[in-house]
Amino acid sequence: MTITPLMPVYPRSPVRPVKGEGVYLYGEKGEKYLDFASGIAVNLLGHGHPHLTKAIQDQAATLMHVSNMYGSPQGEAFARRLCDHTFADTVFFTNSGAEAVECAIKTARRYHHAKGNPQKHTLITFTNAFHGRTMATISATNQEKLRDGFAPLLPGFTVVEFDNLEAARAAVDEHTAGFLVEPVQGEGGIRPASQAFIKGLREICDENDLMLVFDEVQCGVARTGKLYAYEHYGVEPDIMASAKGIGGGFPMGACLATEKAAGGMVFGTHGSTYGGNPLAMAAGQAVFDVVANEEFLAHVNSMGERLRGALEQMIPNHDHLFESVRGLGLMLGLKMKTDSRAFVTYLRDHGLLTVAAGDNVMRILPPLVIEEQHITEFVEKLSAAARQYEVPKAA
Ligand code: PLP
Repeated sequence: MTITPLMPVYPRSPVRPVKGEGVYLYGEKGEKYLDFASGIAVNLLGHGHPHLTKAIQDQAATLMHVSNMYGSPQGEAFARRLCDHTFADTVFFTNSGAEAVECAIKTARRYHHAKGNPQKHTLITFTNAFHGRTMATISATNQEKLRDGFAPLLPGFTVVEFDNLEAARAAVDEHTAGFLVEPVQGEGGIRPASQAFIKGLREICDENDLMLVFDEVQCGVARTGKLYAYEHYGVEPDIMASAKGIGGGFPMGACLATEKAAGGMVFGTHGSTYGGNPLAMAAGQAVFDVVANEEFLAHVNSMGERLRGALEQMIPNHDHLFESVRGLGLMLGLKMKTDSRAFVTYLRDHGLLTVAAGDNVMRILPPLVIEEQHITEFVEKLSAAARQYEVPKAA
């Protein structure tokens, strides 16, 4: 037998973290890493944040899990808080991002079904999107590497070019249920959609009674300097998937919707054994305690500006490697002129964690609690690495 006990679906790197403290991770042999990846936009509060840790410890000792058959004071309280801070009137809690997107897809379809239009079942999605790894969420993307070998895929998705409003408008037909879009593409290479695109999608939805579904799994929960990225665009979705940072490292997600959009989600239409259990709710509440206020969002914006400014200053010194910086808040991408994956590997071997993305971009997703000294350390390490890095011959 050659297969590893962990199903070998990840090309795992030699980094083997066993401990985390603030913005640092420690490997099995005591190696120290500056973590500007945050578990891919998850550890908003860094590692071992006392408020989050205590909330989870206390709740675990009080009540960890009960079935969704019973009333949920913990779920009601956190759902109320999410609704108070967003466009939404109602929330379904999940265990992951893909499940939150699944719930969003089902909610959009069921809206039209409940209105007597079951033929309106197709969501228009966008090139280079990433919505997760379930059958529906891989069917919702055009990325061949995610879909290869999993046919037959689910029908009901039409993919058009990202940020191309005319293509989106042209794709609408009698089967369209709505649009599913990341306001800021993450895996696709930190690409914020244009104002005109997002506003235009809202208008098309309003004109045709379609559902505007935002996937804010990566860009949501204060990452971009607003609680949710849609606030940058001055429009509200009908349905939104949130996950990753929402639990600060505790696996959870949420599908948020307006009362109108959730019109079809009646008893028995959806469910989850674990979704929204008391332990998850305690984690979500603790993260929200820290991030959902103006002072914290101002901190994210100010750190984002500093980091972006420092990166922009550095680019001319290494213009054989770096092209530009893009993104919002602390969701930043460094567009590279050489293979970003190879460079991310090099940085990792030198104690700096970042994440590669599509379009030759290096994602920089630090914990939102970083301070100036961490930015200084990051930029020093990045500059030193850029000076020493030898671009692989094949690149
Ligand atoms: N949607 C977006 C935008 C994501 O970035 C991701 C994960 O990277 C997902 C959905 C899927 O989330 P999960 O891996 O928690 O299922």
